[in-house]
Amino acid sequence: MYLCSRFLQLDFNMKIFSTIEDVKSFVQQQKLNNQKVGFVPTMGALHKGHLSLVKTAVAENDVVVVSVFVNPTQFNDKKDLEVYPRNLKADSELLESAGVTALFAPTPDTFYSPEEMNNTFQFDFNGLDAVMEGKFRPGHFNGVVQVVSKLFTIINPDNAYFGEKDFQQLAIIRYMVKKMGFNINIVGCPIVREESGLALSSRNALLSEDQKKLASNIYAVLKESTTFFHMTTVAELKEAAIKAIERHDGLKVEYFEIVDANTLLPVTKWEDSDYIVGCITVFCGKVRLIDNIRYK
Ligand code: AMP
Repeated sequence: MYLCSRFLQLDFNMKIFSTIEDVKSFVQQQKLNNQKVGFVPTMGALHKGHLSLVKTAVAENDVVVVSVFVNPTQFNDKKDLEVYPRNLKADSELLESAGVTALFAPTPDTFYSPEEMNNTFQFDFNGLDAVMEGKFRPGHFNGVVQVVSKLFTIINPDNAYFGEKDFQQLAIIRYMVKKMGFNINIVGCPIVREESGLALSSRNALLSEDQKKLASNIYAVLKESTTFFHMTTVAELKEAAIKAIERHDGLKVEYFEIVDANTLLPVTKWEDSDYIVGCITVFCGKVRLIDNIRYK
């Protein structure tokens, strides 16, 4: 449920906007005053992973805008959209204490026209969406590009911050910026993990304590695999890692792809590229978790 931002504003020094017009004119004013603007798009239910992006943005800009918007057009699974965690009050408190200048928290109805809600937007990904998340979540990246390009047009920041946790998303955003001609510097930020190694995610809130322990095996296996990757073939490593994860009851690998980090195309040999990452999606019970690791 969305809390009314006008009500929320009473408790905060940070500006809170719910309409496109208000946030746009605020940022335009900042730019007229020669303020460097940083932007962090999120879907809320904020954790330390999001906050690391925010802290970097606060350190590198005069003004920081964070959006909290659970974008319906990027959910191919409506049930997933329904259960996605939301907590605007707690998010606002975290953002204010992190030194954020303005929060943009629209509702779907104020953000999108009815046509946009039906996702008529179409983007040519030049194949970047044909693998991994794009393959298993049809339409997902189309919705991501729709929302991020619209947010970029509204906010028009100097710098925008994205996590390497969503590795394919970051590659697609960089491609989108080039293709659409945005004059925005994209900053990639490292994955923040729990002490157990589990990558922080808003979806972790849907896991029980036992499931969290179980899910920490994902990173343990990935990390271990970096110590011997050069002694195996790519295919052998993939098979071994999937087996090692699925040995744990309750973990099911959806995909594990070892790809060239720039093209996202699968590699068959370690010599195929100088920059190789392994991207994985694992179901822990019903909760879908993603992670990745760099091999070279
Ligand atoms: P989300 O709210 O899931 O859309 O994420 C908003 C931004 O935070 C995206 O750029 C994510 O990649 C980033 N992010 C989410 N989790 C982490 C994490 N554990 N470490 C670093 N960045 C993250």
